Amino acid sequence: MRLNLVTQIFIAFVAAIVLGAVFGSSISFVQPLGDLFLRLIKFIIAPLILATLVVGVASNSDTKQLGRVGIKTLAYYLVTTGIAVVIGLAIAFAIQPGKGVNIAADNMDSEVVEQEEQDVITTLLNIIPENPFTALTEGNILQIIFFALFIGIAITLVGEKAQPVFRFFDGFAEIMYKITGIVMKLAPIGIFGLLAPIVGEYGLSVLMPLIKIILAALIACLVHAAIVYSSAVKMFAKMNPLKFFKGISPAVIVAFSTASSAGTLPVTMKNTEENLGVSNRISSFVLPLGATINMDGTAIYQGVAVIFIAQFYGLDLTFIEMLTVVLMTVLASIGTAGVPGAGVVMLTMVLTSIGLPLEGIALIAGVDRILDMMRTTVNIVGDASAAVVVAGTEKELLENAREETEEK
Ligand code: ASP
Repeated sequence: MRLNLVTQIFIAFVAAIVLGAVFGSSISFVQPLGDLFLRLIKFIIAPLILATLVVGVASNSDTKQLGRVGIKTLAYYLVTTGIAVVIGLAIAFAIQPGKGVNIAADNMDSEVVEQEEQDVITTLLNIIPENPFTALTEGNILQIIFFALFIGIAITLVGEKAQPVFRFFDGFAEIMYKITGIVMKLAPIGIFGLLAPIVGEYGLSVLMPLIKIILAALIACLVHAAIVYSSAVKMFAKMNPLKFFKGISPAVIVAFSTASSAGTLPVTMKNTEENLGVSNRISSFVLPLGATINMDGTAIYQGVAVIFIAQFYGLDLTFIEMLTVVLMTVLASIGTAGVPGAGVVMLTMVLTSIGLPLEGIALIAGVDRILDMMRTTVNIVGDASAAVVVAGTEKELLENAREETEEK
């Protein structure tokens, strides 16, 4: 009997939790299976983004159309990220995760966080690659996006003569999709290999002192998804939210186990197109961009972390400081790379902006992986919702298109 991939992934997910809990840290011997899957999925990213984004931009035949799609996408990303921080702050206020916590000393220095401060101007300037080929070899996603956007726009401007190049990228993108499909067959094994050791390592004893911050982040993530994404897909694309969440669920599990939006991108694209009916033209523009700059989950986490750290040190935030946090978090989440742990580095930028002690990060570093899994999941669901919303308003949702023609 052959089970479909989604069922297999789900079984692997449950098996990882059960076996991880039963065997504890000795289950870590399955880690290489996870690493294998992670490497396979990572090797797809740079070429996939370059090819799909060039095609995504160039197939918006005129610059007006491209501008419209671009503005909608960015507006959606900014607004939803802003809402995410506010939800994170509000839930953390209600739950008060930093009051009365007693964190064991060994937890405090269990992981030393690299406290690299990021300044906004350098972050922005770094988007422009000095050498696009270096960007490709180093896998600098934001720079690859910059390169791809320009090639795509130039293909449109050049017209006829650039068509062979367009067709090359189009074919190349198809090849990368095919490779994704093949790699995904290994997803159940990979997810088991990634998740079981994590469950094994984080016994209840590690989680308990920080259970409130984990809960606050979890509730904020659920509230954000249930309110913002559900109403957005319903309102702008007339899509049943249940259909939306079901369609994106394989990518959710991959994001949860890899804690990397960039790593999940191939799967997010596959799900969004095949299960949710978003056209390739929209998904290949909206999703690579989203995996890099749209991080609602990270924004939620940063909001919760700020309140946690402030409460832990007994500091009250003023209204102006709150506003600063919202603004800085939106910027910080844009600058966060879609790789595991990146959100912690960018949290330093938010904390610095209102003078909170950076040492506070060490308090939650011990459970960062758990928080990272949750925020990455929200990050990619947010990207997918943007693709659905933009496709809906551009009349490029396949199912809607079908229904409309049937009505006529
Ligand atoms: N791991 C997250 C992601 O890939 C980024 C973060 O650390 O917040 O989306």
